[in-house]
Amino acid sequence: MRYLIVSDIHSNREALEAVVDDAAGSYDRVLCCGDLVGYGADPEYAIEWTRANASQVVRGNHDKACAGLDDLEWFNPAARASALWTHQTIGAEDLQYLTSLLRGPAYEANCSMVHGSPVDEDEYVVNTADAVGIASYLETPVTLFGHTHLQGGFLVHRNGVLPFRPVGAREKSATVELDPDSLYLINPGSVGQPRDGDPRAAYALFWPEKRLVEYRRVTYDVAAAQRKIREAGLPGALADRLARGL
Ligand code: ZN
Repeated sequence: MRYLIVSDIHSNREALEAVVDDAAGSYDRVLCCGDLVGYGADPEYAIEWTRANASQVVRGNHDKACAGLDDLEWFNPAARASALWTHQTIGAEDLQYLTSLLRGPAYEANCSMVHGSPVDEDEYVVNTADAVGIASYLETPVTLFGHTHLQGGFLVHRNGVLPFRPVGAREKSATVELDPDSLYLINPGSVGQPRDGDPRAAYALFWPEKRLVEYRRVTYDVAAAQRKIREAGLPGALADRLARGL
């Protein structure tokens, strides 16, 4: 079984379509680590694609906020504005789907799926110290996570924790062979709002039987996604940042 791993789609239809095109023929099932919506202008497309295609989904903090399940006091003004806009824009069936999404972890193919971390769905695992802090909570050889919008992850070995960020700015993909004596935190990166300085949409492919993870980046029509954000009346900063990948 081969998996397409996506996370942090953030209502970016152009980026999601580019990922699906790029990955075509390379996977059997889809796993989604949350944040289908928020920030972008195509929430219904992101929800309906995920609903139709993903075999497992865990909710993200923006999914909770856009569903009206969370108060917005911890959100910055742009995130808050987009959450309110999304809540008001999507239809009743899509709102019901968002509301029904489950908190992680979910499990598939001897992997755990979480949005933030196995300890707290809203926790950011950004650096080695963060990964060390949650290492004892890892339940499975591979934990898939998102939330940081940073493609890469961490190898957790008895001798320590090593971060990795595999795909260089001039590369389209990089494959990581998983060591059977280590645990892995795998972040596919963000489909719809990358923040690692690379504006290309990010995702990963995973072959559990072969112990291989392939990280990929793909260009998409950033200008179209930006135009829709502005036309929807969403904060311009949410459009601007897509060009920088920050
Ligand atoms: Zn996110």
